[in-house]
Amino acid sequence: MTHLLPEMAEIWQETLNWQPTAQQQLQFQQLYELILEGNRQLNLTRITEPQEFWEKHLWDSLRGIAPQQQFLSSLQEGASVIDIGTGAGFPGIPVAIAAPNCKITLLDSTRKKITFLEKILTELALDNAKTLVGRVEEIGQQRQHRQSYDVALIRAVGTASACAEYALPLLKQGGLAVIYRGNWTEEETTDLENAVSQLGGVIEAIAQFATPLSKSIRHCLYLRKVATTPANFPRAVGIPTQKPL
Ligand code: SAM
Repeated sequence: MTHLLPEMAEIWQETLNWQPTAQQQLQFQQLYELILEGNRQLNLTRITEPQEFWEKHLWDSLRGIAPQQQFLSSLQEGASVIDIGTGAGFPGIPVAIAAPNCKITLLDSTRKKITFLEKILTELALDNAKTLVGRVEEIGQQRQHRQSYDVALIRAVGTASACAEYALPLLKQGGLAVIYRGNWTEEETTDLENAVSQLGGVIEAIAQFATPLSKSIRHCLYLRKVATTPANFPRAVGIPTQKPL
């Protein structure tokens, strides 16, 4: 079996109006190979076929930071970004590759995954990214992290209201949270609005799109922080999922 990622230059161009440079393509390939290797010891991802990896990990990660297909429009030069519950590094590592001028923090509660990510950052020479181990409920109450980020990314970590409770305290006022989802309904929007308003945010946009190869439906929720988040959020470890807002 070949482990060569497809280039997909045309699809990048059509969908995000962007294409990776030769160096970025090489970094995507290195990332893919390191994850396949890491998968032998750690349960990192079920997505291992080249096309699927390209679509569900690389493309999906980067589509989230392209609201209205304006790639990187949500990331200003020098923006500080946190990827909450990054797992094997998604969406944070593709974002760090695509946006070398941003500073990315990859947060996960599992030490083993973070150790693996450190190896990836070294091998890919990604000096704009660093790792952080901990539970986001605790990190969000620490002075050096609270209200410190321009953008928070969060994919496959919990319900939307839990994700909002994790992300909004970490943002500076005016900052943006991007919650990556599969399906999404109007009813869920109403519930989420209630949670988000308690956290000092508003739902700025909800993007629905299909992935370019398998045409799977995805949604990205964009939350803007418009006021200070009350000090009691995020609540203690486990509470955001057990007693959703
Ligand atoms: N974001 C990655 C992706 O989309 O491929 C990984 C998703 S994985 C299903 C969820 C990850 O979130 C796990 O690696 C887990 O350790 C981490 N996680 C879950 N709850 C967390 C919390 N409260 N604080 C920090 N990390 C958490």
